[in-house]
Amino acid sequence: MKKLLTLGTALILAMSVLAGCSGSNSDEKVYQIATDTTFAPFEFQNKDGDYVGVDIELLAAIAEDQGFKYELQPLGFNAAVAALESNQADGVIAGMSITDDRKLKYDFSAAYYDSGVVMAVSASNDTIKSYEDLRGQKVAVKTGTEGASFAESIKDTYGFELVYFDESPFMYEDVKTGNTVACFEDYPVMGYGITQGNGLKMVTEMEKGSSYGFAVLKGKNAELLEKFDAGLENIKESGKYQEIIDKYISAE
Ligand code: GLN
Repeated sequence: MKKLLTLGTALILAMSVLAGCSGSNSDEKVYQIATDTTFAPFEFQNKDGDYVGVDIELLAAIAEDQGFKYELQPLGFNAAVAALESNQADGVIAGMSITDDRKLKYDFSAAYYDSGVVMAVSASNDTIKSYEDLRGQKVAVKTGTEGASFAESIKDTYGFELVYFDESPFMYEDVKTGNTVACFEDYPVMGYGITQGNGLKMVTEMEKGSSYGFAVLKGKNAELLEKFDAGLENIKESGKYQEIIDKYISAE
C-alpha cells in the first residue's frame, strides 16, 4: 500500500512537471492591450505605419522589464474602453485619465503623466476668445473622454451644443472647416498638435484634469497591473521613463 502511494505520488509529480513545462511555452499569456488610434504624442503611426509614442514605448519598456508578452490593439479611445469592458482587452493604455468615476469600474496603475483639458479654436478664428463666446454655437468633443465630460458640464451654463467624434483628428478637422467653432482636448495632446501644425490655437487657460494611468477591469488582471506598476518604477529609476518622455515631449 505504501509503495503504491509513493508510485502514485511520483506519477502525479511527473505529470504536473510536464504540465508546467508546456504551460510556460505554448500557453504563455499574451496580454491584449487596447489603445487609441491617433493621440499624439502618446500613440500615433509613424511614416512606416508603425505605432509609436509615449504610451507605446512605456508599455514596451515595462513589458521588457517585467518579461511579459502583449499584443497592441489600436482601436480608438472609446472602443478601447469598450473592449476592456467586454473582456476583449486585458488592459488599456491610451492617455487615459484616472478619474473618480472611472475608478468605480477600473483599477489604475500609478499615474505616469499629468494632464488637463483645454479648448482650442481654428488658428484663423478671431471671434471665440472665451467660453462666453460659445453661446448658440456648436462645439466638437471626443466620445467618452474627460474633455467631453468637461464640455458637458459647462454646456448649459454657456449655451452651446455638442457634436461627438470618435477620433481626435476628425474633431480638429471639423473645427477647421468651421462646422464647429471649438473643441475640447487634453492639453498635452493639443499643445503637441499645435507645434506640429494642426491648424488650431488655444485661447483660454487649461482646466485642471486628471493624470494618465494604465487601466484594467476592476478586480481583473491584478498580476498585469502589478507588473505594470513594478515596471514603471524600474524604468523611472533606470532613466528610461525620462528618456521616452524627452523623446516625444520637449521640456519647457
Ligand atoms: N485623457 C482623456 C480621457 O481619458 C482622453 C483620452 C483619449 O482621447 N485617448 O478621457
